[in-house]
Amino acid sequence: MPNTHRDSTFSTEHSAHNYAPLPVVIASAAGAWMTDVQGRHHLDMLAGYSALNFGHGHPRLITAAKEQLDRVTLTSRAFHHDRFGEFCTQLADLCGMEMVLPMNTGAEAVETAVKTARKWGYRVKGVAPRKARIIVAAGNFHGRTTTIVGFSTDDTARADHGPYTPGFDIVPYGDLAALKAVMTDDTVAVLLEPIQGEAGVIVPPSGYLSGVRELTRSRGVLFICDEIQSGLGRTGRTFACEHEQVVPDMYVLGKALGGGVVPVSAVVSSAAVLGVHRPGEHGSTFGGNPLACAVALEVIAMLRTGEYQQRAAELGEHLHHALASLTAAGVIQEARGRGLWAGVDIAPERGTGREVSERLLDRRVLVKDTHGSTIRLAPPLVISKEELDWGLEQLHSVLTG
Ligand code: PLP
Repeated sequence: MPNTHRDSTFSTEHSAHNYAPLPVVIASAAGAWMTDVQGRHHLDMLAGYSALNFGHGHPRLITAAKEQLDRVTLTSRAFHHDRFGEFCTQLADLCGMEMVLPMNTGAEAVETAVKTARKWGYRVKGVAPRKARIIVAAGNFHGRTTTIVGFSTDDTARADHGPYTPGFDIVPYGDLAALKAVMTDDTVAVLLEPIQGEAGVIVPPSGYLSGVRELTRSRGVLFICDEIQSGLGRTGRTFACEHEQVVPDMYVLGKALGGGVVPVSAVVSSAAVLGVHRPGEHGSTFGGNPLACAVALEVIAMLRTGEYQQRAAELGEHLHHALASLTAAGVIQEARGRGLWAGVDIAPERGTGREVSERLLDRRVLVKDTHGSTIRLAPPLVISKEELDWGLEQLHSVLTG
C-alpha cells in the first residue's frame, strides 16, 4: 500500500526535536478513532499512553468540562473553590486513603511523592538530615524532571542532564532479595510501577509486589505505587497492584485522571504521610484547579461504575489470547501484559518496532514502538471487540505480508 501520510503540508520546523512522531497529523477524534487532516480514520491503539482510557471526547467528560468552563476555571490555591473539597474526598475514597495532593503532570506527582517520602522520613521516621534514601527499579519510567531522570537506567532519557539528585538506590525489577539487600534504616520509600509501562509492559513475577508490601511494612518504609500509566482501569482493575491484593502507602496517579481533557495528577495517601506538608512547603499554580477537579470528578464517577475495569478485563483476556496465538504461530516473538495493555516483541527479521508502527499507520492503526523491537498496545477501554480484532488483523498482516 503506498504511503500517503507523508505528503502533509504540516510543518514542525520550529519545534524542538525531543520527539519523533509518526508521520500522521490528527485533526479530530471520537471514541477509539482519530481522523487525520486528509479525513482518513485511524484506530487509536495507544490512547495517549493511557491518558485516554475513556476514549476521545467521551460525552460525560466533555459535558463536565464545558459546564465548568462556564463557571470558573482557575482560582490558584490562594483561595478555596467549590469543586476542590469534593474532588479530594472522592479521590481519597476511590483509593481507600485519607488525603490527596493534586498536581498536573505525572512527573510533578512523582516529584511530590519523592518530596513527601523524604519529609516523612525526617519528620516522622526520624532519619538524620540529608540521609534519606529511596529504592527504585531498573527499567523504571517515572517522568522527565532532572531528579527523576537521575534515577532512570535509560541512557537516552538520562544523558547530559546531570548532575543528578543523590539518594536513590536502583535494584533489578522483580528481584525481592536485591531490594531487601539495599534497604537500610535510612530507606524512606520504595517507588515502583506495578507494571513497567515504558520498559515494554513488564509484569513482575507473581508474589513480587506482595513481597515488597510485606518487607516495607516490616521495615517502616513507605511503598509508593506509580499507577500513572497502569492505574484507573487499564489492567482490568482500578489499580494494577490490586492483582496481588496489595494496598500501597501512596498512590501516584495521572494520565487518565484528567480523562484526556486536562492534565490532572495527584498523590493519594494517609493523613499520617501526606499530613507532613505545611503551608508554603510545596504547591503548584494549576494543581487542583476547578476545571481539573470537575473533569477528574467525572472520571472518578465513571470508574465507580466498574464498567471500564470490566471491559478492560474481558477485552484484555481476548487480546492476550489473540497475542498468544500469534506467538504460537511465530508471528510475534513474545507478548506480555494485563488487561487492555500489551508489550509485543517483534522478531528482528520482521522489522524494528518503528518500522512495524509505520506499516500499521499505512493500514490506519496507530501504535508506538518502545526500546527498538517492542510495540505497545493500549487501546482506549471503550474500544469494541470488533475494532480490537480489526486492529489485530492489521498487526497480523503487516507482520506476515
Ligand atoms: N510515571 C509513569 C509510570 C509514566 O508512564 C509516566 C509517563 O509516561 C510518567 C510517570 C510521567 O508522566 P508525565 O508525562 O505526565 O509527566
